Amino acid sequence: MKKPASISTQNKLIILGLGISTVLIVALAIFAITNIQQKISEVYDDFGQILTKTLAIESVEITKDVQEFDKFAALQSHTRSIINSNREISFIEFRNNKNVIIYSSKKDYPNRAEEASIVSSAPMIADIEGVKSVIGAVSVGLSGSATANISRATKNSMLVVFTVAWLVFTVVVLINTLLITRELNILHHGVTKISGGDFGFKLDTKNTSGEIRDLINAFNDMSGRLHQYEEQNIDLITLERNKFEAVLMSIVNGVVVCDNYDNVILVNNAAKKMLEVDESQILNTKIQLYCDTDGELCFKEKIEQFKDTPLDIMENKPLEFNINIDKRVIKSIISPMFSKNQDYVGYVIVLIDVTKEVEIDRMKSNFISNVSHELRTPVTILRTYIDTLHNHSDDFDEDTKKEFFGVINKEAARLHKMVNDVLDFSRLESNNVNVEKENTDIVPLIEQSIQSMQVLAEEKNITFSLIKEPSLPKIPINSSSIERALNNLLSNAIKYSPENGRIKVRAEIARDTNYIEVSIEDQGIGIPEEHQKKIFERFYRVENDTHTVKGTGLGLHLVQITIEKHHKGKVFVKSKPGEGSTFGFWLPINPVEDESDTEEV
Ligand code: ADP
Repeated sequence: MKKPASISTQNKLIILGLGISTVLIVALAIFAITNIQQKISEVYDDFGQILTKTLAIESVEITKDVQEFDKFAALQSHTRSIINSNREISFIEFRNNKNVIIYSSKKDYPNRAEEASIVSSAPMIADIEGVKSVIGAVSVGLSGSATANISRATKNSMLVVFTVAWLVFTVVVLINTLLITRELNILHHGVTKISGGDFGFKLDTKNTSGEIRDLINAFNDMSGRLHQYEEQNIDLITLERNKFEAVLMSIVNGVVVCDNYDNVILVNNAAKKMLEVDESQILNTKIQLYCDTDGELCFKEKIEQFKDTPLDIMENKPLEFNINIDKRVIKSIISPMFSKNQDYVGYVIVLIDVTKEVEIDRMKSNFISNVSHELRTPVTILRTYIDTLHNHSDDFDEDTKKEFFGVINKEAARLHKMVNDVLDFSRLESNNVNVEKENTDIVPLIEQSIQSMQVLAEEKNITFSLIKEPSLPKIPINSSSIERALNNLLSNAIKYSPENGRIKVRAEIARDTNYIEVSIEDQGIGIPEEHQKKIFERFYRVENDTHTVKGTGLGLHLVQITIEKHHKGKVFVKSKPGEGSTFGFWLPINPVEDESDTEEV
C-alpha cells in the first residue's frame, strides 16, 4: 500500500534537520577548538617572552661581579638548574654583545634542543657606571609540549561535549519523531478504516498525548457523525430502492437488467413470467445462456450483435427482435445503460408480449387475402351470369332465367353483406360513433331478419323456428344495427349448418335478470373450445387458412361491438364440435344510458 505523503515528508524533514544540526554542531566545535588553540599559543608566546626577559635579568645579575672566564661556568650551572626543573625549556643560549655564544645548553642537552618549537630572545642589559648598556642577549627555546597537551585535551573535551550534545539532540529528535509517527500511524489506521467504508470506527486515545489526542478525539467525533449520516443515507437509499423496485416490478412489460459482463442483475415480475423462470434461475447468470422453450439460446446471437454495434448507434436505435416462448411472441428491445457520468455500465432488455399484435397482423393479412378472394368470386359470378343473360337471354327458358336471377340475387346479397361488413367495421371501430335508440319490440326485428335470410336458407333446405316469450317488453335499441347483428348470426348459422338442418331462434327474458336473451341455435359443425373465446375478435376465423368457407372474420366482431359497446349488452356462444352452436346476446331492458350514445348510425 502506498505510504501517506505526510509521513515521507516528515522523514525528509527529520533527516534534513538532523543534517543541518550536525553541520552546525561540527562547525561550532571547529570554531571553538580553533579559537581556544589560538588563545593558548598567544598565552604561550607571552610566557616565553616573560621567561626570556626574566632569564636575561637573572643572568646579568649572576655574571655581574664574575670574571670573564668564570661567566661560562656560572651561566652553565644556572642554566642546568633551570632546564632540569622544567621540561618546557628546550635550550637556553647566551651571547655577548658581539653575538658570540657565551654558553649554549644545546651541547649539554642536544636531544631537548631538537624539540624546540618556539624561540624567544631578550637583551641582557647591565647598569655600567650608571649607564644602561646591552651586554649580550639570551635566547630561550621552548618545546611547546604544554600547548600541544592543552590543545589536545581541549580538543578531546570539546569533541566529547559536542558529540554527546549531538547524540542527545539526535536521540531526542528520533524519540519525538517515533512518538509522533506512532500516533500518526494510529490516525492513519483510522483514516484507512473510514476510507474503506467502516464508518463509526473509533480510535483509542490511550497512550496518546496533547494535540494528537485532540486530533483523535476530533476524528472519533467525525467517524461517529459519518456513521450516523450513513445510517440515515442507507434508510433513504433503501426507501428509494424500494420505490424503484416497486415501480419496476409493477411495469407490465418485462425488464431484464444486465451488467457489463452480461450477468442478470435485475429482473421484474413481468419478465419472469414471460421468460417462464424463477428469480433464482436467472439472477446472476449470463443472459446469453437463457434457453427458450425449444432449447434455443435465443438471446446469444442478438447480444453479440448488440455488442458489435457502436454504443451511440444502439442508444439512438435500440436493437429489436422477437423471441418465441411457449407459443407466445415476445418482442425484445436491448438498449445500453449509462451511469450519471455517462460511463457504460450494461444494458436493459425490455420484453413486450406481442403475441396478440402478431396474431392480429396475421389475421389482417388473411383478411385482406380473404376479402380480395371473396370480392372476386361474386363479382366474377355476377359478371358471367349477367353477361350470359344479356347476350343469350333468348336461348333460355323462363325457369333457367329465374334460376340465373336467383344466383345473381344471392351473389349480390353476399357482396352487399361483405361490403357492409367492411364499411361497418371501419365505422363502428372508430370511437366517436354514437347510436340513436328507440324503445322497440325486438320480435318483429327477428322475424324480419329470418325473412331476409329465407332465400339463403332454402338453398340448403334449412328451416327456421322462432320461439318467443309472450309480451316481451320493448327495449331501447337501434333497430337497424340490431337487425344487422341478427343477420350476421343467422347467416353464420346457415353458412356453418349442414343441408336440411334446423335453426332455432329464441327470444325470452333471461332467467332472473333484467335482460332479454336472443339465441340462435344451429346443428352445424360447431366450434372447438379453444377457438370459442377468440371468435369475437376482429378478423378471427377458425378456418383462417382455407377459402373453403367464405368469410372475412368480421361478422361476429361487429355483432359484439353492436351488442356490447352500443347497447351495453353481452354476447355469448355455446358450442360443441359436430353437434352445433348456439350464438346469442343479452340486451338490457332498462339500460343505464350513456350520454355519448346519441348520434345516428
Ligand atoms: P366469417 O365471415 O368468417 O364468418 P365471423 O366473424 O362471422 O366471420 O365468424 C368468425 C368465425 O367463427 C368463423 O370463421 C367460423 O369459423 C366461426 N363461426 C361463426 N359462426 C359459426 C357457427 N354458427 N357455427 C360454426 N362456426 C361458426
